[in-house]
Amino acid sequence: MSMSVTITGRHWFGLQPADTAVAAWGARAIITGRVLDLVWNRQQCDPGCRGTDGERALSPLHVELHNELDSYFLPLLRQRLKAYDPDLDQRSDAVTEIHNGRVVLRCSPNASCGYLYICATIDRDRLTPDELPSLEEVARGA
Ligand SMILES: [Zn+2]
Repeated sequence: MSMSVTITGRHWFGLQPADTAVAAWGARAIITGRVLDLVWNRQQCDPGCRGTDGERALSPLHVELHNELDSYFLPLLRQRLKAYDPDLDQRSDAVTEIHNGRVVLRCSPNASCGYLYICATIDRDRLTPDELPSLEEVARGA
């Protein structure tokens, strides 16, 4: 079976998603002091559910991705920033990787002195067999 969903190859605000990601969200967040600020036009989804690909119905995978971001990953990042995590320090180029459910979040300040590059993905290896057909629809742009 060939899966040809490729979500790299164009400008991406956050860290680049892996080629095996079937749903991805990325952002270049601003860190002021120890506060994370997500700017609406510095984040994106792929395959698009909202963001630079315009308004589209949220796919079930993106619903899952955004639920995990809102309920777990972003509150955790905000907590770590506030408590001071050296890996999230502005001068750090460390990459933090956090797993929850089927979602993996990676982020790094990239020693940028003010940005946090974030990417959250669901990898195709985590899909159930009955989710694979709908993935092919995504690949066809349906
Ligand atoms: Zn999305």
